[in-house]
Amino acid sequence: MEQISIFDIFKTGVGPSSSHTLGPWKAALEFTDMLKNNKVLSVEVELYGSLSKTGKGHGTDVAVIMGLQGFDPETVDTNKIPDYIEKVNKSNQLFIDNQYIFFNPSEDIIYREYPLPYHPNALTFRSLLSDNSIISETYYSVGGGFIVKEADKKQTKTYKDLPYPINTERDLDKYIDSTKLSISEIVFENELQFNSKELIRKKILELWDTMLDCIYQGCCKSGTLPGGLNVKRKAKHFSAGLLNNIETKDREEWIKAVKACEPTFNNINKWISCFAIAVNEENASMGRIVTSPTNGASGVIPAVLMYHYCFGNYKGENDIIEFFLTAGEIASLFKKGATISGAMGGCQAEIGVSSAMAAAGLADINGGTPDQVLEAAEIAMEHHLGLTCDPVGGLVQVPCIERNAMGAIKAVTASNLALSINPENAVVNLDTVIKTMWETAKDMNIKYKETSEGGLAINIPVLPNC
Ligand code: SF4
Repeated sequence: MEQISIFDIFKTGVGPSSSHTLGPWKAALEFTDMLKNNKVLSVEVELYGSLSKTGKGHGTDVAVIMGLQGFDPETVDTNKIPDYIEKVNKSNQLFIDNQYIFFNPSEDIIYREYPLPYHPNALTFRSLLSDNSIISETYYSVGGGFIVKEADKKQTKTYKDLPYPINTERDLDKYIDSTKLSISEIVFENELQFNSKELIRKKILELWDTMLDCIYQGCCKSGTLPGGLNVKRKAKHFSAGLLNNIETKDREEWIKAVKACEPTFNNINKWISCFAIAVNEENASMGRIVTSPTNGASGVIPAVLMYHYCFGNYKGENDIIEFFLTAGEIASLFKKGATISGAMGGCQAEIGVSSAMAAAGLADINGGTPDQVLEAAEIAMEHHLGLTCDPVGGLVQVPCIERNAMGAIKAVTASNLALSINPENAVVNLDTVIKTMWETAKDMNIKYKETSEGGLAINIPVLPNC
């Protein structure tokens, strides 16, 4: 079974979708590597299944154009993406490996609504070279920004030997019993096989800084989100109302003002929603976000952690570190036992998983026992089972943006419930809910798995360019 680092789960990226934007972007980057040192005459891309049905709204076309030109989703200036795309659209040229290549996006990106058998999100790149040979590769974007190459899909990979290989909650329980370590300590020992102690801390704190920035940016911007659905940004309005319209000059001053806000139930509830919505408005406008575990669900973790940071019992940076380690392991359990892809499992696999991650992380840093932490994850997922994915207009906006607020609130409730009970009396454990989520995913009609062919997506009138 696969061994996953928490930095495979949490990645700095660009919105709006990990499976439809980040994955195809990474696939295009990989394919460009294959073209190196060749005289390239043409490139075409075929998008299959869900990537075809919701690819336009999810920015798949933009992602492949950016990836083919070698831009890194972690470092690209997200404000310049529209300019780069306009340049390609106007010139019908791509700049690949120091060569200009004719590329007409409306003809060379081909949408095929049928899926390939291995996974609903597939894309094939094909290039004609000057010696008349063809280089071609198919990739599957399997959720959370993870990609699998056609050639690798049946191969057994060699994984690092971890001191605590964990595939199920039962494995984790076994190590907790035998070592008396906490969940985050066990995950940290495993992470040391991938990164040094110092690097783990540094990388987590950088991710947290990106999340803080994303929340702040979302709370500073007004206007309408791109895509034609005419969704107005709300986070700035919420933030201004909660702060009684006081002016703040930068992120730190804004955070200080948030922390000074009266911590009533209603205020805290509104702030959690505001934080989640701010992130997902940034995500919807191709802003810089942290995939956690997907882009569509990227607002839940920052909202819950920001709640703890501003209104909870925040004790310092170790809280951030422990939260990420625990939440990352929960995502890994879902990825191994079920799925974190909306196209495979509906929204229970995205918002449900992020809510479970956040609930566990919060319970951990609030002093929960390992059993309570795992129970928090179980409760959060139990109440997302069956949640469908039906993005209106194929955009990651409705219901996605508000759904992050709901996932965050449920995570806080799940954490509080788990901290108040004796987990020995729990009827459902985490392994059972993961198994149930996967069975539900397999039973779910394809209409509700990121195709925009069912649910809200067919009941809301959308403009033709959505
Ligand atoms: S409905 Fe849920 S799973 Fe589907 S795109 Fe939106 S956030 Fe992702």
